[in-house]
Amino acid sequence: RHALGDWLGGRFPEPTPRIGRSRLLVLAGPTAVGKGTVAAQIQQAHPEILLSVSATTRPPRPGEVDGTHYFFVDDAAFDRMVADGELLEHATVHNKYRYGTPRAPIEEALRSGRTVLLEIDLQGARQVREAEPSATLVFLLPPSWDELVHRLVGRGTEDAEERARRLRTAKGELAAQAEFDYRVVNDDVARAAAEVAALAR
Ligand code: 5GP
Repeated sequence: RHALGDWLGGRFPEPTPRIGRSRLLVLAGPTAVGKGTVAAQIQQAHPEILLSVSATTRPPRPGEVDGTHYFFVDDAAFDRMVADGELLEHATVHNKYRYGTPRAPIEEALRSGRTVLLEIDLQGARQVREAEPSATLVFLLPPSWDELVHRLVGRGTEDAEERARRLRTAKGELAAQAEFDYRVVNDDVARAAAEVAALAR
């Protein structure tokens, strides 16, 4: 396995992987660690894996396609999905917009023998573990704290106040990594993606 760099050395307890493997993979990790990029790379290398498309109340960014990147819905539609039990998990992320995982496509894919990958936040990962205790939870780590800050500033999509808020959230999320089954360091996207994909049954 790849070295875990300065995340080891007793700073955080080692995660304990459960025996056996699930076809339901959950990828979480702090802001700007590159979850989306790693998930996209897995999808490209393994088209047989279903990358779950979430519903969100966030407006689309330029280039984002409804039904491909997200299902873009308004608050009323999101409320209805929650009330009808259509979401496996849902959460308000970064105190702002709501995000949730549609249940039906996942159940369908698992039934037909496919592996399913969810790229969601920590609150969502915890809910999936509750709902599906056999799910495999993977925590994506940056090579270092400084690198995480560097990536967040580098992508330039948040202002200083929002970056500060996300970094506070990231500290809390990093402290939760021991709840996960596996940790993967994202220092190289292709390698990290291969490592995550190999954790599926
Ligand atoms: P973004 O708005 O940048 O696409 O995503 C913001 C955050 O929402 C990311 O941390 C992403 O992992 C998380 N997220 C995306 N979809 C879901 C979902 O269905 N459920 C939960 N809990 N978080 C999600």
